[in-house]
Amino acid sequence: MALHQVRPRILGFISEDVSAWLVAAVVLMVGSLLTGLLAWGTLSQFNRQLRQRFELLVEERYSRLEERFQDQEQRLDSLRRFFANSAGVSSTEFHGYTEALLRRTRAFAWAPRVAREERQAFEQRARAEVSSTFTVRERDEAGILRESAERDEYVPVLYVQSQPSYGAPLGLDLLSHPLRRVTLERARQRNALVVSEPIDLIGVDPAFSRGVMLAAPVLGPSASEPFGYVVAAISMRQLVADGLPEAGDDNLSMRVLDAAHGELPEVLFETSNRPGKSDLSAARPLRLGDHDFRVELRPSRLFLSSNHSSVVSLTVLGGLLSLMLSALLYTLVSQRQRALALVDQRTRELHARESELRGTHGQLKGVLDAATQVAIIATDLRGIITTFNAGAEQMLGYQGCDVLQSMTLESLHVPRELQERSAQLAARFGKPIPTCHAMLLEGGEQGGQQAREWTLVRRDGSHLTVNMLATPVLDDQGLWVGHLAICIDVTERKRVHEALAARDILLKKLSAHVPGGIYQFKMDFNGGFSVIYASDGIRDIYELEPDVLVRNAEAIFSRIHSLDSARVRASIRISADTLSPWREEYRVQLPQRGLRWVRGEATPEQLPGGGVLWHGYVSDISDLKRVEEELRALSVTDALTGIRNRRYFQERLTSEMVRVERGSGELTVIMLDIDHFKRVNDQYGHAVGDRVLQAVCQRIIQRLRRTDVFCRLGGEEFVVLCPDTDAEDAYTLALGLWDGLRGAPIDGVGVITASFGIASWRAGEGADALLLRADSGVYAAKQAGRDRVEAQLG
Ligand code: GH3
Ligand code: MG
Ligand code: MG
Repeated sequence: MALHQVRPRILGFISEDVSAWLVAAVVLMVGSLLTGLLAWGTLSQFNRQLRQRFELLVEERYSRLEERFQDQEQRLDSLRRFFANSAGVSSTEFHGYTEALLRRTRAFAWAPRVAREERQAFEQRARAEVSSTFTVRERDEAGILRESAERDEYVPVLYVQSQPSYGAPLGLDLLSHPLRRVTLERARQRNALVVSEPIDLIGVDPAFSRGVMLAAPVLGPSASEPFGYVVAAISMRQLVADGLPEAGDDNLSMRVLDAAHGELPEVLFETSNRPGKSDLSAARPLRLGDHDFRVELRPSRLFLSSNHSSVVSLTVLGGLLSLMLSALLYTLVSQRQRALALVDQRTRELHARESELRGTHGQLKGVLDAATQVAIIATDLRGIITTFNAGAEQMLGYQGCDVLQSMTLESLHVPRELQERSAQLAARFGKPIPTCHAMLLEGGEQGGQQAREWTLVRRDGSHLTVNMLATPVLDDQGLWVGHLAICIDVTERKRVHEALAARDILLKKLSAHVPGGIYQFKMDFNGGFSVIYASDGIRDIYELEPDVLVRNAEAIFSRIHSLDSARVRASIRISADTLSPWREEYRVQLPQRGLRWVRGEATPEQLPGGGVLWHGYVSDISDLKRVEEELRALSVTDALTGIRNRRYFQERLTSEMVRVERGSGELTVIMLDIDHFKRVNDQYGHAVGDRVLQAVCQRIIQRLRRTDVFCRLGGEEFVVLCPDTDAEDAYTLALGLWDGLRGAPIDGVGVITASFGIASWRAGEGADALLLRADSGVYAAKQAGRDRVEAQLG
């Protein structure tokens, strides 16, 4: 089953294949949506709570105002009842009574009705009781109080109880002012407490001047018309704002309007704090007397700021959380995808490794089975055989099934060998070594794993010599899990070695009885020399050890005489090129025995890979050379006179002819014949004749140059071979010889003379022609009378 089919899904519903970006985006979207919903819910709840809080404040404020308004009515009404129920109220009583009432009221006043005709009397009483300057007054157009004009009726202010700052308008006729008059009229008609339209209170700080006048008619018992009015001047600011929080501390922004006029109601009072931006607002009706007011309330900035919403923080926090969550999920998903990709890759690699391993295992098995010439036996740590290849089956005669897991490596050995080896190892390591380990332990002789020869026992009981290399088998962690023994059947090799060793001994013995040395000499395809084999006899030939030669063939050439070395090398190469037998005689310069002559002979054969191999023999021929040289000297020496004979002359003439024919130098021969020698023989006997011949030679030799070659041609005829000598010089030489001979008489015989002929080689001339011309010269001298030198003819 493919891995991806069982792969779990992330968070149970997201496919693994989905990109981490998509997951992060979805989570961010969901997070943002949830944050939005939460923010919306929070905002709704906040708005609800804000409204509730606002409503509470409004209700509280409204009830406080309402209470104040009612309070003002009650106070004025109590003053009315005070006047109504008193027979007369003096100024002192008035002040005493109203002093306690004066709260949030600018002033209380008593204004009696005064008829035209009562005016004067009234003013007199008032001057006596209230103020000496009292008079009934009215306001002119400039607002200044002046004495009132004549009217049918007056309602002048008689008593006033006011706030200290209030300039009491004593004597003001309330009927003189239209709004006040209307108010009083309405009070009289209704016989009830009424409130004027908004007016400017007289003598009041302008900030507090806007207000209303409350008026209530005072009727006597069972009277239908009032005899006066109690009046209260109310500054709307004072009434409403007194006791309220400072503008900066007020949660509400408040306006009090005159509700009597619907279209454009006058704002009688407005708090100085500005309303905040909010759709919250409340309006409540207030009634004072018969007049309607409206109070409008809105939340102030303070209210809004102290009740601000946490939605923004919530949104930011939610957004951040969503972002973090999506980043976290992105990281998790991408990491997981990377991890899964890595797992996939590792799995593929493992599969590849597994199939590779299977292939390797197959190859190994194939190799094991193909190695039919090698026995490969593996054992576990107990020595029990776990692998037994085809080579081992073939070599030892067992089938694998007979051996595997049942036999031990030890059981294949000869017990005696194991015991001996065990004893050896025990002695070396100083502790007992079990025989089952004897074939496994290294001897430590040279370090490292060493193959060792063992005798194994076949299934049929016969013995087999093998070369066995035992190595420990380690697992991946380097732990020792068994042994591996690789055995090569060396029975045949051993037999061949023994046969070769016997041949070596035979060769050694034979060569010991042969003078000289035998050898194998090889020239590589690149021209390098090497000695393959050298018998002990070589030591006497070159005064070099055979093994030194085997290591360094060039050592031979260090012994060969420098004059012969190049010739020897050249002859070897010719032999190699032509595969012709090599035979060379050459000198060697030995440290102990000095100069010796040796002769080498060898037969070449071409080697398969290029190069030539010689089998040969080298012997000391110094004695033979000496004999040869002696014989050679004898063969070219005249026995009587000791000078070179005719053979030598012929050889030398031939080689000199070759030289001059190459164009290098000249050649002249001087021939001489003793005059009348027969007479000497005849006169003194043959023995004296022989002595004369010897004496003549001595005299001639004395006069010769080092390069001249003096030979006896036969009888009493001689010849001098003069290399690099022309006819003229030869003539001079001949004269010297002639003179030397005839000038030195021979004891007992006297002067002996000879006739001389000279011939210089001419181009294209042969040896015979040259000699003939010399001989002709001798003949000419004889003819001319003997005892002379005949210059070269023609
Ligand atoms: P010429 O040359 O002057 O004409 O006279 P000749 O007497 O020398 O003549 P010829 O050359 O014919 O004689 C040479 C003689 O030398 C002949 C021979 O008996 C003698 N003779 C040759 N060989 C030997 C020798 O080895 N020993 C002695 N004692 N005499 C020899
Ligand atoms: Mg002669
Ligand atoms: Mg003669």
